[in-house]
Amino acid sequence: MKSYKLKSFVFGKSTLNLPIYGFKAEEFGEKNLNVLLIAGVHGDESEGVVLARALLNKLDQEPIENLNITIVPEFNIEGVLLKTRQNHTGVDLNRNLPTKDWTPDYTKIRYYPGKEAASEPENKALVEWISNNPVNFIFSLHSWKPMLNVNGDCQEEANFLSTKTGYVIKDDIGYPTPGSLGTYTGHERKIPTITYEIQKGIDFAEVLDTHLKPLYECLKLMVEKHNKKS
Ligand SMILES: [Zn+2]
Repeated sequence: MKSYKLKSFVFGKSTLNLPIYGFKAEEFGEKNLNVLLIAGVHGDESEGVVLARALLNKLDQEPIENLNITIVPEFNIEGVLLKTRQNHTGVDLNRNLPTKDWTPDYTKIRYYPGKEAASEPENKALVEWISNNPVNFIFSLHSWKPMLNVNGDCQEEANFLSTKTGYVIKDDIGYPTPGSLGTYTGHERKIPTITYEIQKGIDFAEVLDTHLKPLYECLKLMVEKHNKKS
């Protein structure tokens, strides 16, 4: 069977200068679909980290042709190690991106957006990566109430995932999220972005049973759709 190598690389550094590892599964060709998948943006949402790591393994065993995917399973490495939402300096990385609506105001300490937009090295790395690499689609794996939060043109993909998982699709989660990735990439850069909220607190085996196959199949479908267009 044809296989591609998953290559690890240092995606960025954390506030304590810890490396944030990314993994690239690269195929060569002009038609490739470029996907970025990040997890562990909130360090206490380990359901997404588990799913991202399992997806790495699945892609290693069953590569998808014409897919270039970069996976960053523990984006907020300090939060993952501390089991906290925020990074070591207490910043919510999903409120710290340099969006037009970024604000230093916050309602709860858990949403602390930092002193200024993109103040955190994790987000500096993300912003730089997005501006330097082709990216057609972004998945950001979180856990909370089960839902697929869509930003930009990702209805088809969300419909597929919703059918397979029973998760509802929402384009608004019910409260403002200034400085979030969905706003930064989905709205402001027209890169379709799904913030995938896995049901929080479920067993890891259930996370994988419910989501691994749908996510993998969704990537396959996206590649087919992309190949037809290009
Ligand atoms: Zn989250």
